[in-house]
Amino acid sequence: MLEPGGPLRGTRVLVTAGPTREALDPVRFVGNRSSGKMGYALAAAARSRGAGVVLISGPTALKPPAGVDLVQVTTAAEMYEAVTARAAASDVVIMAAAVADYAPSAAATQKIHKDQDLMTLTLARTPDIIGELGRRRAGQGKPLLVGFAAETHDVLNQARKKLKEKGVDLIVANDVSRIDAGFEVDTNEVTLVSADGEEKIPLQSKTAVANHVLDRIEAMLPARTPALK
Ligand code: C5P
Repeated sequence: MLEPGGPLRGTRVLVTAGPTREALDPVRFVGNRSSGKMGYALAAAARSRGAGVVLISGPTALKPPAGVDLVQVTTAAEMYEAVTARAAASDVVIMAAAVADYAPSAAATQKIHKDQDLMTLTLARTPDIIGELGRRRAGQGKPLLVGFAAETHDVLNQARKKLKEKGVDLIVANDVSRIDAGFEVDTNEVTLVSADGEEKIPLQSKTAVANHVLDRIEAMLPARTPALK
């Protein structure tokens, strides 16, 4: 077998994947349609390039890729703890997870019964994990930060805004209103948005998209982490 010899070899890559679940009561949660396939494809591809990979995953039906350290979490708060505890020791952090932006402000301790016609939920913002990593990293080149922007409209403008606001190096933007790209399916079409410009990656398997994303990361790595070379 060929030994992988590219810039990711020997680096530490942290990947997040899947949805989070925010409890409403002991039997119900607020979640989203993320399958985890894009994040798992990124973790597998980074491992094949010789990186040491930690995969922090929300609940999914997927088998973890061989050779990857899997950390299973459920909520956005747990994902925050798991990621922030490991980010400083990573060379690259790829946040492919669809982290809930809001969670019930308090979960009921017992099952909620249907004794009202209308019910109001109060939701509170969850911690912005990648935004926090951007702030902690300010002034240092490491880790390289990659975020995802899953949008149903105005995809590129939202991605450009996130690149600046979250202080990250690369945003992988995808239109999740399409049936052949984004959530649940095996294919994706994305645009890579960075300070250097934008590159459209046409519709292809999530594994092939993952390899395009890693090619871009490898091209950015030597400039950011000269100590690795
Ligand atoms: O702001 P928005 O949720 O659309 O940004 C998406 C990016 O931010 C993804 O990379 C996602 O993993 C990350 N994110 C996060 N913490 C949150 C929500 C999203 O790190 N609470």
